[in-house]
Amino acid sequence: MAELRFSALRELFSREAIKAEIPGKKISEYFGVNVFDLPKMERYLPKETYEAVKKAIDRGTQISREVADKVATGMKAWAIEKGVTHYTHWFHPLTDATAEKHDAFVERNDFGGLVEAFSGELLVQQEPDASSFPSGGIRNTFEARGYTAWDVSSPAFIIGHTLCIPTVFVSYTGDALDYKTPLLKTLNALDKAAVEVCRYFDKDVDKVIATLGWEQEYFLIDEALYYARPDLMLADRTLMGHQSSKDQQLADHYFGSIPDRVMAFMEEFEMEAYTLGIPVKTRHNEVAPNQFECAPLFEEANLSVDHNQLIMDVMKKVARKHKFRVLLHEKPFAGINGSGKHNNWSMATNTGVNLLSPANKPKGNLQFLTFLVNVIKAVNDNQDLLRASVLTESNSYRLGGNEAPPAIMSVFLGSYLSGMLDDIVEKVTGEKMTPAEKTELKLGIGKIPEILLDNTDRNRTSPFAFTGNRFEFRAVGSSSSCAPAMIVLNAVVADTLRTFKKDVDSLIDKNIKKDEAIFQVLKKYIVESGRIRFEGDGYSLKWEKEALKRGLTNIQSVPESLNHYLTDQSKKVLISGGIFSERELEGRVGVELEKYTKKVQIEARVLGDLAINHIIPTAIRYMTQLLDNVKSLGMVFGEIEYERLAGARKEMIMNISDHISSIKKLVQDMIEERKKANVVEDMNKKAFMYEKNVKPYLEEIRYHIDKLELTVDNEIWPLPKYRELLFTR
Ligand code: ADP
Ligand code: MG
Repeated sequence: MAELRFSALRELFSREAIKAEIPGKKISEYFGVNVFDLPKMERYLPKETYEAVKKAIDRGTQISREVADKVATGMKAWAIEKGVTHYTHWFHPLTDATAEKHDAFVERNDFGGLVEAFSGELLVQQEPDASSFPSGGIRNTFEARGYTAWDVSSPAFIIGHTLCIPTVFVSYTGDALDYKTPLLKTLNALDKAAVEVCRYFDKDVDKVIATLGWEQEYFLIDEALYYARPDLMLADRTLMGHQSSKDQQLADHYFGSIPDRVMAFMEEFEMEAYTLGIPVKTRHNEVAPNQFECAPLFEEANLSVDHNQLIMDVMKKVARKHKFRVLLHEKPFAGINGSGKHNNWSMATNTGVNLLSPANKPKGNLQFLTFLVNVIKAVNDNQDLLRASVLTESNSYRLGGNEAPPAIMSVFLGSYLSGMLDDIVEKVTGEKMTPAEKTELKLGIGKIPEILLDNTDRNRTSPFAFTGNRFEFRAVGSSSSCAPAMIVLNAVVADTLRTFKKDVDSLIDKNIKKDEAIFQVLKKYIVESGRIRFEGDGYSLKWEKEALKRGLTNIQSVPESLNHYLTDQSKKVLISGGIFSERELEGRVGVELEKYTKKVQIEARVLGDLAINHIIPTAIRYMTQLLDNVKSLGMVFGEIEYERLAGARKEMIMNISDHISSIKKLVQDMIEERKKANVVEDMNKKAFMYEKNVKPYLEEIRYHIDKLELTVDNEIWPLPKYRELLFTR
């Protein structure tokens, strides 16, 4: 454990040689210089080896030991030329961070000295003693070893003097202990299912990939102020703090001009991102003060997930150089916007077609509608599983708030497409369609107008919106890996596509023509998933009521939501779909429940400490000043004047005293509730106890502290206030 460094992206800036080269260069000229990508493989590997690796990447197959040896030799040569001394397997355990354990490229030589060495064996597989990673009880400590294995589809990269090799992480018994293993499985499942369906339209399709473009929101806080806020340091969010008189109400930060110090930070982390092959493209100020966003060009989903993990690390690292701290938490400040991570997702074929992009021919559009409707159906049938993939402890402060998507899942299509789906329902009748009807329908869907691609039809309140040529899953949390959301989305769509294929084939078997069979199944799916389509204001109370009537769930409880990983429907998708074993799935839910409990526990402890050690003593000091003042008044003035002068002060004293007493009592009660929950063994029960019995105290205690913040002398208030945190830049 000690040798494992979480996200220890050390020495990020020590390769001065490369950095010195960059100024004056175009981005395209240094993009990917630190990545062992295909062009570099072509240069450093024998031709057959290169071909074998390329095939493994394209087809998702394994490489042989001999090939691995040759890759290792080439990779080492490239890395050492770039001054690299160490290598690490880089993986995503079930924590919020990536993990790495570095080894030097050295072995003993025959003369007692050292020689630079790296074999295929070390490249392909390693066995870190990773017993301290969460496994949800899958591994016992006596079988603690897990192993990491190279994910050929994600290229190795260099950070500092270390070669990082993206890997999966599994236990000795073969259970997945990470996010990458199931993600790769779902990408595979989606590929298979989508190819089968594509072949109704185009026999040349033999590969479908998922594409992902994330939008990463974050806050930047001045480092000195950050250090003065133990809640930010330990819990990643402020657990107290009265609203600033001015924050985002004038909407003057959104898309505003980027402050110089922030720009310097952005330019530097973007430059690092480019060297790592991350195609960042967009930067802007977000709605809340000191809130920003970064978005790349989309990529194949597995690579994009890795790149998001990497950029979160790079941002944190670079921010420290600029005396900033990056806050990735979904709701670091109460009362202003939180941060999300929109996952723009689609599917693309080997023939270069985006399956969620309307085409200009009826045939292409029938394919587009097929995929569109299948995604809608997948969301409809799996609303609870999709929510479970994104509703984490930290995201629970944001989802359902009035600036983020609600906890109710729904799909926004825009009026044009929505009308088109209604048209299909109306025109496809139960009996056989006449040729004229078919022609009319095809004509109708043949002319989806160009404006759709202009993204004009938008609805910011939808958790799952169609935006012209992709879906945008907006409920993902800013601090989460994209992986859990992508695992579930790929899996539910794959599952739905498989069913779709069966349904269409069974009609074809009954001698119904292919196109008509497709129309009929589409109609059925459109009708069945009508309830999930919603075009209105997702933040409104009216929608909450309406959604309830439609049978849509509105789950805001994290433990309750997590339990939906284990419903029959979820098991059908994830276990029968070959993504997890029953043990893995249960283990995973256990890990997430435990993570939830521990996070609430940390917040409760930090708040308790701050309340008792920082806030109450400060309030007492101020109260004592007031008491002294009142006493002095009594000595100086006569009774009548005294009463007039001391009245307001006495009221303040009583007021402060009441808040102090309330805080003291609430903290004590909260501790008692923790004690009760802590002795409970059952992870599920414990998580619910933390949620129901401990978490509510956070708000109650905060209320009194925030009142005191308004009363107590600013000179002695021990924590930087919101107005300072949000406006120092
Ligand atoms: P907006 O804020 O308007 O939603 P952005 O430009 O910030 O748009 O982000 C849009 C994201 O969607 C980008 O990462 C972009 O690459 C991605 N994207 C565009 N087309 C696709 C696609 N077919 N599949 C996946 N992601 C896509
Ligand atoms: Mg977007």
